[in-house]
Amino acid sequence: MTIKIAVLPGDGIGPEIIREALKVLDVLNADYGLNAEWQQAAIGGAGYDDAGDPYPQATRDLARAADAVLLGAVGGPKWEPLDKPLRPEAGLLGIRSDLGLFANYRPTKVHSQLLDASTLKPEIIDGVDIMVVRELVSGVYFGEPRGIFEEGEGENRQRKGVNTMSYTESEVARIARTAFSAARLRSNRVCSIDKANVLDVSELWRETVIHINESEFPDVDLTHMYVDNAAMQLIRNPKQFDVMVTGNLFGDILSDEASMLTGSIGMLPSASIGEAHAMYEPIHGSAPDIAGQNKANPLATILSVSMMLRYSLDKVDLADKLDAAVEAVLDDGLRTLDLAGGSSSVSCTQMGDAVCAKLQAMAV
Ligand code: NAD
Repeated sequence: MTIKIAVLPGDGIGPEIIREALKVLDVLNADYGLNAEWQQAAIGGAGYDDAGDPYPQATRDLARAADAVLLGAVGGPKWEPLDKPLRPEAGLLGIRSDLGLFANYRPTKVHSQLLDASTLKPEIIDGVDIMVVRELVSGVYFGEPRGIFEEGEGENRQRKGVNTMSYTESEVARIARTAFSAARLRSNRVCSIDKANVLDVSELWRETVIHINESEFPDVDLTHMYVDNAAMQLIRNPKQFDVMVTGNLFGDILSDEASMLTGSIGMLPSASIGEAHAMYEPIHGSAPDIAGQNKANPLATILSVSMMLRYSLDKVDLADKLDAAVEAVLDDGLRTLDLAGGSSSVSCTQMGDAVCAKLQAMAV
């Protein structure tokens, strides 16, 4: 059966890094029998330029019909003066909510060849391989009531800002299932992060995660940690973690903290997954400062393809091959500008070509 991929390059360096990812898909088709086909559509600023909408109807139709979506990045100074609903970021939020992408996976893997890129000591981060699974469409970012209200009388009258952290059992259950399933593809360990010593919503979170673990995933080892301790442990001893599952707010903060263990934004892929759809993208933005100069690091996008193979297309063997190809080019000392630290560097195109060459060599 042919696999259909919706490819949304977006803005800035998006088209450059996506071009390299598509070369990789070409090799997987030609040498590994992947049988994928793709169509491209505009999103973000490109969507606005094309159709006056950062998430045009044609893109929506393509994304909904695809087995998976591959996105570059959106945004840039050109579109900043636009009204909020027309800005590139509205396209990104639009596609996430349209496709019901409730789970965000952010792996943080420290590549031993790049240990010096981090601000932490090599012995602390060498071997770090963490997957943060963050709930993406509920929690305090969406709970009601929310807003800024007036309260009190006379001199005591003042404004009060309110957000509500809420989770239903079914919302927790589905993100817990996502995390446990991800753990089965890794080392079968999940640490659930909450604040159950203080928050009622966290108490329900913890009870529900335990229930799903015992009833559906008894083979997965589950531990719990309070979020304040988790923030500290990520810096003190990050190697203790494998899969971390948490709510929207805690996940937002912890996944950014975890990503900085690697010190290099151009290396980090992500996946946003729902019941029926999934989208894969690098965690970085459109890097307008280097756009159009063939300087961007395409590896985060190429590693996003690896996540697509692993989590949407059931091609774990090909994902392993692609990961190995990336390791091999790093072993060879190839570095794009962001990784070179003043030493000589390769272009975006050269890095993509090198990964393709490794993949081709491994297929023989
Ligand atoms: P950014 O991630 O685009 O860039 C931050 C820095 O990292 C820049 O110096 C950039 O050159 C560098 N960088 C990023 N990706 C790189 C890569 N692959 N290779 C080499 N260097 C890389 O963040 P920013 O500058 O804060 O934002 C730029 C634009 O991107 C804004 O419009 C922002 O809204 C948007 N943005 C989009 C997304 C997304 O599409 N998911 C995420 C974040 C920011």
